[in-house]
Amino acid sequence: MSRPDLSSIDKAILGEGWLSDEPYRNVEAMSDLGSRFGGTESEKKAIDFLSARMREYGFENVHTEAFQYAGWTRGTVSLEITSPQKAALDSISLPYTGTSDVEAEVVNLGYGTPGEWESNKDRIKGRIVLVDAKSPVYFRRGIHRLEKYGRAVYHGAVGFIWMRDQGGFLAETGGLRPGAEIPGVGVSKETGEQIKRLMRNGRVRVRIQTKNDQHEAITANVVGDIPGQALEDHVIVIGAHFDGHDIATGSLDDASGAAVVLEAGRLLAQHRGALARTVRLICFPVEEIGLYGSKAYVKEHAGHLGQFDFMLNLDGAGREGDKGIALQDFTELIPFFKDVARDMKWPMIVDNAFGMHSDMYPFSLAGVPSGNLSVMEAVRTGRDWGHTAADTIDKVSARHLRGDSILVARTMLRAAVWEDMPSRHKTDEEVQEVLRQNGLSQVLSLNRPVPR
Ligand SMILES: [Zn+2]
Repeated sequence: MSRPDLSSIDKAILGEGWLSDEPYRNVEAMSDLGSRFGGTESEKKAIDFLSARMREYGFENVHTEAFQYAGWTRGTVSLEITSPQKAALDSISLPYTGTSDVEAEVVNLGYGTPGEWESNKDRIKGRIVLVDAKSPVYFRRGIHRLEKYGRAVYHGAVGFIWMRDQGGFLAETGGLRPGAEIPGVGVSKETGEQIKRLMRNGRVRVRIQTKNDQHEAITANVVGDIPGQALEDHVIVIGAHFDGHDIATGSLDDASGAAVVLEAGRLLAQHRGALARTVRLICFPVEEIGLYGSKAYVKEHAGHLGQFDFMLNLDGAGREGDKGIALQDFTELIPFFKDVARDMKWPMIVDNAFGMHSDMYPFSLAGVPSGNLSVMEAVRTGRDWGHTAADTIDKVSARHLRGDSILVARTMLRAAVWEDMPSRHKTDEEVQEVLRQNGLSQVLSLNRPVPR
């Protein structure tokens, strides 16, 4: 066991990191390219941009790894109230919604908790469900859009209206699933409340018409290394998705995360001689519509996942709030990262907080010790600006980008240097047990398309 004193490297990282404008400039540059949504010109440009930055920062073996996925392009949408009176409403198609024309009565599913689906199950078939995007604080876990959509399909709904929980006339987007069986549209809180108000006086019918395109597409992960010394074959990954949704510049979600990957790598590359393990930096595309980059990476490297000692995902890095490490149920890593926090003299919550909806998930499903850099103490409110047209560069703070880049660099420096990191991989049975314990086995089966 060797835990060398890292205080002089810390000082260098802190000085360099606090004086650096690189992460902010990189978020700016990525935002200026466009959404970087799968299949767009801006996505291709972002791949070139990220590769160029990785080379400039001295990462080695910089390359792209191409893969296929189900692409989606937004077309047209219309949502109108047809009864008791006609009224056109603003809405957006949720990715993977295809071409459809449905008219039916609306049923309000509230927050879409399992209890609400169960108690309404006889009223859903043949109707259009209206469901709030929020996961209420009283419910013990977050209830993702995919779960609510899965339940809507399961109970025989013919349409899905996804209502944002924060006001401001912003519709919220978010991917459904390839071949989405029923159309899904996002509406603002104000529009959703308008429908609910009418429903208090009697039955309300709406018509949803959508025209969108799903097709095979190709994109690529962007990968670079900072080789380690004594344990060169052992890899720790720092990753984040670089795509945003097509309706915004995705400056917070997740150009910021990709910029922190680059900056943490840049700060670590200046101390490469001290690293025992290899640090691998990965920027993933098309996270937003199905975690395709991380899924492809894990699949492509399935034969040697044993080399991966830890994967830290940065979905949300650079945003406001004190960050901690939300582990994918790797209990033995809690004391390790608490030691890391103590050694850094930096308060940081470290705990198990399993998540299915970002790029650490495919790694954890394959048993690889993994986690996400998360704001651990936030009250469950919603996505803030994420997934709306207002996720733009003006929301991004250079200070938080710097702080998070330094935190990630110092944390992963220790993960790369301290040879005693307890990175035991999980077996398939252990992974299934984690899903069961988190109440997710049923959710997973609902997320799969059902034959109808
Ligand atoms: Zn994200």
